Amino acid sequence: MEIKENLLKVLDSISQCEKASGRKAGCVKLCAVSKFHPIEEIRQTLENRQFLYGENRVQEACEKFSVLKTENKEIKLHLIGQLQSNKVRNIVPLADCIQSVDRFDLLKEIEKQCCKIDKVMNILFEYHTGEDSKSGFTDKSQIIQALDAIALNTFPHIKPCGFMTMAPFTSDETLIRKSFQTLRTLKEEMQNQYTQFNLAELSMGMSGDYKIAIEEGSTMVRIGTAIFGERDYSKK
Ligand SMILES: *Cc1c(COP(=O)(O)O)cnc(C)c1O
Repeated sequence: MEIKENLLKVLDSISQCEKASGRKAGCVKLCAVSKFHPIEEIRQTLENRQFLYGENRVQEACEKFSVLKTENKEIKLHLIGQLQSNKVRNIVPLADCIQSVDRFDLLKEIEKQCCKIDKVMNILFEYHTGEDSKSGFTDKSQIIQALDAIALNTFPHIKPCGFMTMAPFTSDETLIRKSFQTLRTLKEEMQNQYTQFNLAELSMGMSGDYKIAIEEGSTMVRIGTAIFGERDYSKK
């Protein structure tokens, strides 16, 4: 029961933030981050027509969502965690978007595996915007290199849709806001340069900072703890 209530609270809070920031109602999507939470808990949110989920580990994502996706065709799965090249093959059939593209070589592998099953994969470029050492492209020129390659049809099975970031883990709101602003600026710059793509997706904001992210233009918040509660890392 609690999970459903949490979900409704989060959805309500998102719409209030949209309104308060002068943004269009419904412009921010909720990606429910279900990592470390069992299928039964995910099913509770499905009852509320929550269909978009984020997972960060390939094996866990495959175990849970191969089952859930056969039960419900509306489910969308986004991979949000660092992806090793040797696991691309496993996640490609199940994922609807890979948000954590953080290096050029990963595109090559995604292309290869998607080509085999004739699937076009939506991707986001993960960009490193915080001070902490976290994953993501650190260099804008590498993203430009990737977009150039996609523009030249080097990766016909890859569709770039926008950008993702994680703000630094800090209570300093200024730093968090700056990180989101950096991603938004990158998006605007890249969108102006590559008008042939729609790079509108800005995946930013987690349980602790999604309100700031919405103020700064987020189009997708990735929320786990505020919906499912604390994760029990001892279980796996
Ligand atoms: C775990 C995770 C989230 C969700 O974090 P919460 O603080 O539980 O909302 C969002 N994004 C990524 C990339 C994550 O790994």
